[in-house]
Amino acid sequence: MKRNTWIQGSLMSLLLLYLCACSNSNANDGNTSSNSLMKIVQETEHGLFYSPDPEEKVKTSVAALAEAFESNYDRITKLFEFEPVGKTVIHVYSDKVEFTKMIGRDTEGTYVAKENVIKVYTPAALEDPEVKADYVAQVVHEFVHAVTQQINPVVGYAKWLDEGLAYYASNQLETELETRSLFLDVPTLEQLEDPDYFAKAGGSAYFYSGSIIRFIVHEYGEKALNEIIKDPEQMEQILKESTQNIYEKWKADLLKT
Ligand SMILES: [Zn+2]
Repeated sequence: MKRNTWIQGSLMSLLLLYLCACSNSNANDGNTSSNSLMKIVQETEHGLFYSPDPEEKVKTSVAALAEAFESNYDRITKLFEFEPVGKTVIHVYSDKVEFTKMIGRDTEGTYVAKENVIKVYTPAALEDPEVKADYVAQVVHEFVHAVTQQINPVVGYAKWLDEGLAYYASNQLETELETRSLFLDVPTLEQLEDPDYFAKAGGSAYFYSGSIIRFIVHEYGEKALNEIIKDPEQMEQILKESTQNIYEKWKADLLKT
C-alpha cells in the first residue's frame, strides 16, 4: 500500500476492526430489546443516565460518571464546535457478564451510533481512586466518539482518527504521558496503515493515535483538526503536507519529549 493511501486504506479496511477494546460506531452493538429494561437513574443538564440494575446499586457510580461527563461537556463541545441535539443518553451496566453478553464481545464501553447511545460497564464499587479515574475517563472517551461521529459518521471507520480523538480529548493521553517517557514501540507508517494494528498493539495503538491527534492540534491547530474530522480523506490538503511528512514530523516531535 502506498503511503499516501494511509487514510483511504484505513477507511476501507476498518470494517474488520471490531476486536478493539472500544468499538466504533458501526458495530452492531447491543440488543435493543434490553433498552426497554432501562430505568432512569440520574438526569443532568446534558445527560440522561439509565441502568437495567437496581437504582440503589448503581446510584453512586452513576453519580461519578455524571460528574465527569458534565465537567468535560463544555470543553469537548467547544473543542469540536458541536453541540449534540438534546441530552446525551448513557446506559450504565454494573454487571460485566451481562454487559459483555449484551454487546457481544469483550469490551467495557462503546458508542452505538445507530441508537445514538453510549453504553458502558462501570463497577458499582468505585472506592479505589485509580479504578474510579479509569471508569470516569471511559465515559468521557465515549462522549468524544459520540460528538465526533455525529459530526461525521465516516470518522467511525478511521480507527486511528476515531480512537486518537477519543484518547486525546478525554485527556487519557495526558494522563498516560505523565508516567510514560519511553516510546520503544512507536509504530511505523506501515503499521499505522495495517487494519490489524489496533488488534495487535492493544493499548499502545490508542496512545500513539492520541499522540498523532495531539501533534496535529499543536502543529496545525484545532481548526485544522476539525476540518479533518469533517473530511478525513483531505488530510494532506488541509495540513498542506504529505502523510509521510506528517508522520516523520510527529515521530520526531514525540521522541524529543
Ligand atoms: Zn474508543
